[in-house]
Amino acid sequence: MTATSYDTTLGLYIGGEWITDGREGEGVTDPATGQELARLPHATTADLDRALEAAERGFKAWRAVAPEKRAAVMYRAAALVRERADKLAAICTAEEGKPFAEAKGETLAAAQLIEFHAGEATRVYGRVLPRPVGTRSLVLQQPIGPVAAFCAWNFPVLNPIRKISPAIAAGCSVILKPSEETPGAAVEVMRCFQDAGLPGDVAQLVFGVPDQVSRHLLASPVTRKLSFTGSVPVGKHLLRLAADTVMKSTMELGGHGPVLVFDDCDLDKTVATLVAHKFRNAGQVCVAPTRFHVQEGIYDRFVAAFAEQTAAMRIGNGMDRATQMGPLANPRRPEAIAAMVEQAVGAGARLMTGGARAEGPNGAGGFFFSPTVLADVPLSATAMNDEPFGPVALIGRFGSDDDAIAEANRLPYGLGAYCFTENGRRQNRLGDEIEAGMVGINTVRLSWGDAPFGGVKDSGFGSEDGPEGLAAHMVTKAVHIA
Ligand code: NAD
Repeated sequence: MTATSYDTTLGLYIGGEWITDGREGEGVTDPATGQELARLPHATTADLDRALEAAERGFKAWRAVAPEKRAAVMYRAAALVRERADKLAAICTAEEGKPFAEAKGETLAAAQLIEFHAGEATRVYGRVLPRPVGTRSLVLQQPIGPVAAFCAWNFPVLNPIRKISPAIAAGCSVILKPSEETPGAAVEVMRCFQDAGLPGDVAQLVFGVPDQVSRHLLASPVTRKLSFTGSVPVGKHLLRLAADTVMKSTMELGGHGPVLVFDDCDLDKTVATLVAHKFRNAGQVCVAPTRFHVQEGIYDRFVAAFAEQTAAMRIGNGMDRATQMGPLANPRRPEAIAAMVEQAVGAGARLMTGGARAEGPNGAGGFFFSPTVLADVPLSATAMNDEPFGPVALIGRFGSDDDAIAEANRLPYGLGAYCFTENGRRQNRLGDEIEAGMVGINTVRLSWGDAPFGGVKDSGFGSEDGPEGLAAHMVTKAVHIA
């Protein structure tokens, strides 16, 4: 890690002005070393009120801007994100821990998402209904208004862009509160939009004590939409607050991705794909493959190959180009994972590899946990029911297709699900019957700019990305003219 990896000045962005000092705040930690990287100022109540006023003004002005002009600003912002990708990725790695190559991939995917939504801004169509000559009934799609958006720390570049892009493409203004643990990437993302010419009142960036900020923004009549990415309990709490003003909401909450691996899959390819995907971002991904249900005929071979490839993974500082898995993002995660692994082993699971906190490179400290594989995990184990959000693969066996589908649908989560089988009839059945917002069959890629991203059941509702992501920022109005 070099001193220049965290090349940013943290601050709040309100009404087109940066506030970088003179506020109470908190430290931002490098998870690979445990060292403080910088101090983050918190917004005061007066700052939040100014952000609301700016968002109100910004909405009135921005909704009147021609869609192709809104799109032009966004294309410029995407180009700046690409141009600054190395800087953004280095900040992302420094404050969140993921390997630099992953951070760079995240950044380039985020640029693509801005471009997708820029295009969608020019494709918001209404309808003209059949009526007698000389009369009309129109169905209009209009931007809903100022959006309060809150997002988690696991994708420091992508999460803020996923919130800002569809909102401003639709003609809304936005107040974004990213995670206080990964503020630097969000600050630099906001600078890209600012430098691209986004008017200052259209997007605001605030930080603070999460519960205080969200209560304040959601209680205001100015705010017309809530968009949240984070855990199920916090999502439910915010929905209760949003109910008071009957606020439209998009909820992207946690998951517990089932992976159904059938006897007829391409075993070598399946294992290699799943090991890489399981430990992406050290397992801290809402659509991470989590509980692996493997059919009896290939169970032993799957477990052996999965454990062998996992044990060979190189963990270390994300700025070291040889690193395949970095530290966990904060001290809460290794603690939670250690407790889950201990409980599962006590309940009868077999520890195949990993299972303990790991030393950082050169004894540098940090929040490391070795990539872990548990086999024969009983369904009663805590990790088989609660989202682990860390580098632990839980493996169990199944017999029939009916059993596999029942297991996939057993939990209240319904975000990402994965199936590996070469049988076409079975693929159709799995696509039809698995209760999830996204199902990958022989693939682990669920996130595409043009496809809806979101969950069902406790994993949330409303989609991000795709045309659905923009539609979530619109209201429908019927106009009848006699
Ligand atoms: P957490 O629930 O405390 O926080 C999750 C995120 O929500 C954080 O970014 C936090 O700043 C924010 N938050 C918390 N309280 C808030 C409030 N009252 N108002 C607004 N924002 C608030 O959990 P954590 O320990 O940071 O993360 C672990 C859990 O979060 C995981 O178990 C996982 O379920 C979930 N998570 C989900 C996603 C996702 O993409 N769906 C991403 C990150 C974390």
